[in-house]
Amino acid sequence: MKYDVIIIGAGPGGIFAAYELMQRRPVMKVAVFEAGHELKNRRCPIDGERIKSCVGCKSCSIMSGFGGAGAFSDGKYNITNDFGGTLFEYIGKKRALELMHYVDEINLKHGGEGTRIYTTAGTRFKTLCIQNDLHLLDASVRHLGTDKNYVVLENIYSYLMGKVDFFFEAPVDSIEIFDGGYAVKCRDTVYRCEKCIVSVGRIGSKWMERVCNELKIPTKSNRVDIGVRVELPAAVFAHLTDELYESKIVYRTQQYGDKVRTFCMDPKGAVVNENTNGIITVNGHSYEDPALQTENTNFALLVSKHFSEPFKDSNGYGESIARLSNMLGGGVIVQRFGDLIRGRRSTPGRMDDAFITPTLQATPGDLSLVLPKRILDGIIEMIYALDKVAPGTANDDTLLYGVEVKFYNMEVEVNNDLECLYKGLYIIGDGSGITHSLSHASASGVHVARAIADQYR
Ligand SMILES: Cc1cc2nc3c(=O)[nH]c(=O)nc-3n(C[C@H](O)[C@H](O)[C@H](O)COP(=O)(O)OP(=O)(O)OC[C@H]3O[C@@H](n4cnc5c(N)ncnc54)[C@H](O)[C@@H]3O)c2cc1C
Repeated sequence: MKYDVIIIGAGPGGIFAAYELMQRRPVMKVAVFEAGHELKNRRCPIDGERIKSCVGCKSCSIMSGFGGAGAFSDGKYNITNDFGGTLFEYIGKKRALELMHYVDEINLKHGGEGTRIYTTAGTRFKTLCIQNDLHLLDASVRHLGTDKNYVVLENIYSYLMGKVDFFFEAPVDSIEIFDGGYAVKCRDTVYRCEKCIVSVGRIGSKWMERVCNELKIPTKSNRVDIGVRVELPAAVFAHLTDELYESKIVYRTQQYGDKVRTFCMDPKGAVVNENTNGIITVNGHSYEDPALQTENTNFALLVSKHFSEPFKDSNGYGESIARLSNMLGGGVIVQRFGDLIRGRRSTPGRMDDAFITPTLQATPGDLSLVLPKRILDGIIEMIYALDKVAPGTANDDTLLYGVEVKFYNMEVEVNNDLECLYKGLYIIGDGSGITHSLSHASASGVHVARAIADQYR
């Protein structure tokens, strides 16, 4: 039960840490503990027919298991320092980009070949956006698609199997400092290691908070992003998505000066439920395979909120809003834009009348009873702004699903190697509050693996 390195969490951060350790120091004894299931056993019971909404599985197959929250994601690997995390603040912009490119190459070698990379460089849309007070962020994005992303994970798992000890359905309970290393307790058994990499993602936020409290690791509160997921006919955004795939656009509202931004654009995709610690929110994804695509495009519109004094719990604020939507709608609420601006709820009848078919079965309702006025006003203003670059966005039948919340873990104090105040204890990926994307989380895994491997020279 003694390992050189124990990795907690098999999301992109944990997987790429294990991968890089095996590339650099194959002799090292490495174990990965994952609360969720093995990839092939990850199955969300919602089938849209017999089971229509979240039944609160003990381990959520969407968020947990080999591949982490990224397993059924759209597989959009954004290669940029402009969004997706602040890894560059620790390791520098150049190195962060190099590591993201390195991860991209590994994905290509493991089944992602043939997928397209889109870039904002030289695009005419930048001008069009600026002319309409919208700001297009710079990025290159590889779209693997939910289907290819899965194949890549299968192949990386095959590579790691036999080299690394995997423990599934194995939630780590605690980490203790022990004899110059760490004692990791899981299901009443203690495993020891010299170095420990913690990569527990957003689903592990509460656990991470507890560990930081127990070990007195300093943290600071992070922001929360709150908003809706917009769904409209794919044709409305086709000119943008065909060229850029995903456009991250930021708008500053005239009414309050708040920033609203588009996030996670899924051309011809589907809107899905997301379960974070029992709270049902909304997300989206899309497939690379044309046979699996829909006629709609979806994306999030989000407003960031960061509380510091006297109230500090930004995530708690986001959770309360999400709980309200769960209370009123039994889960996610959907509303037609036309109903929202006329101050009336959407009903099943009004939804049936719409010229768009929703890709998620949500409860027709009234988002103005859920979202704070300031946030909702900002979202409405942004929809009208987007209508100028993508006419049809402010159509009555545009669907708004709520709420979408992006919870960010509190930021753990770490050094440039992502090592906390205890030597050999590394906190990476979304669980560290530093990253919030596939590419940044994966790059953080490679970064610590190299730092550890260098010490074994
Ligand atoms: C539906 C959806 C779509 C998304 N689409 C995209 C996208 O297209 N592009 C993008 O860049 N990002 C996307 N994201 C975000 C992306 O998936 C995350 O940023 C990324 O997965 C973070 O990686 P991670 O390794 O830090 O954490 P995670 O992927 O969250 O993995 C953490 C793992 O740790 C495990 N764990 C937690 N606590 C414990 C414990 N105590 N013991 C053992 N194991 C534990 C969890 O079960 C989980 O498997 C999406 C997320 C979702 C939910």
